[in-house]
Amino acid sequence: MSDTRQSDAVISWISGPVLHATTSVPFHLNEAVKVGHQQLLGEVIRINGDESVIQVYEDTTGLRPGDSVSATGSPLSVKLGPGLLGNIFDGLLRPLNTQGRYVKPGLGLDGSDKKYAFSPLIKKGDLLTRGSPFGSVHRADARPQRCMTPPNCDGRVVSIRQAGEYGEDEVLCTLDCGDRGTHELSMGHYWPVRQPRPVLHRRPIQGPLFTGQRIIDSIFPIGCGGRAAMPGGFGTGKTVLQETLAKWCDADVIIYVGCGERGNEMAGVLHDFPSLEDPRTGRPLMERTVIIANTSNMPVAAREASIYTAVTVGEYFRDMGLRVALMADSTSRWAEALREISGRLGELPGEAGYPAYLSSRQADFYERAAHVRTLSGNVGSLTIIGAVSPPSADFSEPVTTHTKRYVHCFLGLDPGRAQARFYPAIHPLQSYSHDVEALVHFWSQHGYPNWERERQRFLAFLEEQARLERMARIIGKDALPPRQQHVLLCAELINEAFLRQSAFSEVDRYCSAERQIAMMQMINRFIRLSEHAIEMNIGVESITALPVIRKLMRMGEEIGENDLDKYNDLRVELDDAFSQLTHSSKLEDETDEG
Ligand code: ADP
Ligand code: MG
Repeated sequence: MSDTRQSDAVISWISGPVLHATTSVPFHLNEAVKVGHQQLLGEVIRINGDESVIQVYEDTTGLRPGDSVSATGSPLSVKLGPGLLGNIFDGLLRPLNTQGRYVKPGLGLDGSDKKYAFSPLIKKGDLLTRGSPFGSVHRADARPQRCMTPPNCDGRVVSIRQAGEYGEDEVLCTLDCGDRGTHELSMGHYWPVRQPRPVLHRRPIQGPLFTGQRIIDSIFPIGCGGRAAMPGGFGTGKTVLQETLAKWCDADVIIYVGCGERGNEMAGVLHDFPSLEDPRTGRPLMERTVIIANTSNMPVAAREASIYTAVTVGEYFRDMGLRVALMADSTSRWAEALREISGRLGELPGEAGYPAYLSSRQADFYERAAHVRTLSGNVGSLTIIGAVSPPSADFSEPVTTHTKRYVHCFLGLDPGRAQARFYPAIHPLQSYSHDVEALVHFWSQHGYPNWERERQRFLAFLEEQARLERMARIIGKDALPPRQQHVLLCAELINEAFLRQSAFSEVDRYCSAERQIAMMQMINRFIRLSEHAIEMNIGVESITALPVIRKLMRMGEEIGENDLDKYNDLRVELDDAFSQLTHSSKLEDETDEG
């Protein structure tokens, strides 16, 4: 970002984050530029003869026609390096301090004098291929990391520094790149945010991003390297769900982008995350987290960029052979930023005022999620989970409908459920996952080959419940035949005992695969036993009155991870209750006949 070309460009017109500059030496499309004496960061987004249209990523107050614009010679890029983990950045990856204070305007990108413990992984004379690691970095306060050769650079090692403490920009390794001269590598390197980092090849989805949330893992699973969206109106629990996933999912690195949400919500994340513990390792959660904060009051163009910045950071860690999960809250605010900038550019508005390229931009974003073989031959993944906030919870608006086309897993949050404080408010009939088939193997490995069938059975009950409830509203629940009342009872059990899971419950906020299986099998056992009882003409009210039902309803809250064998006790109790019920009914039958 340093070779500033001589140019005579000056601002000729300006409106909010968009300005026009006239110049005799043309800029390149998508080139990063510096604007005014504060050197505000901007990007060339359109060129028309000697006039360029530039969007500025910072507050443009005070700029005026005649102020200078200078080229940087490279596309909008961010520096990827060992300082990312555990820190909070703005949409252009400039560090914010822990209170989330704003950075000073302008291109103060490098200024960190921090040193990191480096140890080389290669020696002089080695051939270094594209994207391969040449060293490792250890930080006491973050997970170990690799120093990566940039994906566009390879050659023979001419020199390599010894193990020791070095700054992020110090030259550690020199490569002889043949015809292309020599190349110097340091811990960090720049990468253009709008360009996906190359990989060897994409691999099919093989396992889940395990989240510990039953309705996700067991019913609508997210594949590791897949893409998921959670649309929901205001207050339906998007932010809480995103944070829950960030805390509990089994990724190595979490990228959390607060995109255009209100400042006080972001303040919650900024305040909570640094003080949280990783529930599995007991280490601070921030050690494996990068937060990109872009509240609604920050410049709108930076919000547009923040999504790309975040994906680029995610790909960087993926290239180290790690499992990365990216949470974006919310992609609707990002789409609104696109709309605002498009409006200022005078582009023809499409559906609901969004630009015609909204859909392709969304596709570009979700397309960067993948399970890959990295350039250096490792396996890595980037899973994207985007929240969508459709106005008045209307899922037919453009951002939600386009999102639906690009995600594999759609978790629709329902205002009705949220109002009833049924969390997570994911509506089982408005959600789907295309990753189910790929994950059958995962559940089989955990000793649950019937998972897919039993999952289907749960969904069938829930569908039937929706139909019967409509009917019951007209004719009254008691007028339904016993079989249908039985369906309602089973569906209630599935909802209450399995799908409901409070993010704030000490016992139930995380549910391991073993516990999910125990609970799912328990409910299936109940369904079988009760179906049998109904066949024997036992009334639904006698089943409902069984004391064991209450225990089933509360098993998530009452039987935690540490006493899984209590599920066996509960199963025995369930069997006993039904054998007594059917036994006494047989006796009654016999006395009737006698
Ligand atoms: P949104 O981001 O969709 O506007 P929030 O995530 O802020 O909504 O959720 C609103 C409120 O709903 C939270 O403050 C919390 O009280 C409750 N809530 C949401 N999700 C859950 C959950 N999984 N478990 C318990 N309570 C929840
Ligand atoms: Mg929110």
